[in-house]
Amino acid sequence: MAEFERILLRDIGKPESWSIKTYEKGGGYKALKKALSSYSSDDIIEMVKSSGLRGRGGAGFPTGVKWSFVPKDTDKPKYVVVNADEGEPGTFKDRVILEEEPHMLIEGIILAAYAIGAHEAYIYLRKEYPLAKKRLLTAIEEARKAGYIGKNILDSGFDLEIYLYIGAGAYICGEETALLESLEGKRGHPRKRPPFPATHGLYSCPTVVNNVETLSNVPFIVLHGPTWYRQFGTEKSPGTKLFSCSGAVKRPGVYEIPLGSMTLKQLVFDVCGGMKEGHELLGVIPGGISAPVLTPEELDVPLDYESIAAKGSMLGSGGVIVLDKTFSAVTYARRAAEFYAEESCGKCTPCREGTPWLVNLLRKIESGEGTEEDYNLLLEVTHAIRGKTFCPLGDSAACVVENFATKYREDFEKLLKKPAAVS
Ligand code: SF4
Repeated sequence: MAEFERILLRDIGKPESWSIKTYEKGGGYKALKKALSSYSSDDIIEMVKSSGLRGRGGAGFPTGVKWSFVPKDTDKPKYVVVNADEGEPGTFKDRVILEEEPHMLIEGIILAAYAIGAHEAYIYLRKEYPLAKKRLLTAIEEARKAGYIGKNILDSGFDLEIYLYIGAGAYICGEETALLESLEGKRGHPRKRPPFPATHGLYSCPTVVNNVETLSNVPFIVLHGPTWYRQFGTEKSPGTKLFSCSGAVKRPGVYEIPLGSMTLKQLVFDVCGGMKEGHELLGVIPGGISAPVLTPEELDVPLDYESIAAKGSMLGSGGVIVLDKTFSAVTYARRAAEFYAEESCGKCTPCREGTPWLVNLLRKIESGEGTEEDYNLLLEVTHAIRGKTFCPLGDSAACVVENFATKYREDFEKLLKKPAAVS
């Protein structure tokens, strides 16, 4: 692998890293100038396709392929929508880009809009990020003054407006179709798919919805080319990835790592400095709370999409949560279930009714009042939810609880009430 220097986090620590001055000094907006003067929109889509860039929001879908689904021969307006509703517990990597390097995202948005032929872009930002809001508004204004946004960008004939929209704090609005509903001013409920947003997105028009980190990769791909980008990462998971690491480690934070270049164990013990003094490892969630937990014996797995999936979990959003034995697996499962029950949008029955059932059973077991029957019922409820919900939230709730309950069965059994002895 080529020697690695930070790509996405390259400006972190520089004075006023969020300003256009700092961004341009480091080569910012060169990709846009190059694209508008030398490349067609199809060239940009081809470059992003060849780079192998995959969506960094959780699903890992190839970005260039997603863009290529947007119809070219349509009279409808097209839109770029940025999913900046970073609500997955344990995930705070987009926040660093939004607050510290917003121009990198803006350049990525302009390139994406140019590629698909959109003239309006919306950033859907979670309301819990007030500093990001302030920095984005300033950055959009700076980019407008510099001629990168607005009419006839850099005399290319291409027009683009970027708008900032602040969400109302619902986790479900991180799901792209619920996000679009919310952006249209409706209640944030997921939509049935197909049709997919590429053809029927915002206001039923062709739309590309991309995550903040995903779009932030695009300027580097356009400026240096797909071959350069593929120096980093693996064949199927090219590029670098941001990991937000939290929990009982000595050095929590956001780290940029070429995909597949180290194991989850190395990330936890070498990069994050290992466990805090006096804390014993229980397990690690590798990709935000919706990713199944891996036990200490399962951590020797390369950090890329395929390897983590082969272990039965997900790289997801890259939100690495290190769990220690201060709490039992039952408590962690209960906390996760409470989150899902609270955030369930209520649209479908298995999730609306099932997630509170998970919470009730877990609370009962945690309090020492649960029996073997309750444990079995807990697993039954997870099976009743899995594969039967309208969107991935319900599945995630069931999957996470089942995973804790089966991998840490001993923790659960310790708390179960034993049947009274028959004399
Ligand atoms: Fe709503 Fe849950 Fe059904 Fe998703 S799975 S649509 S969050 S009720």
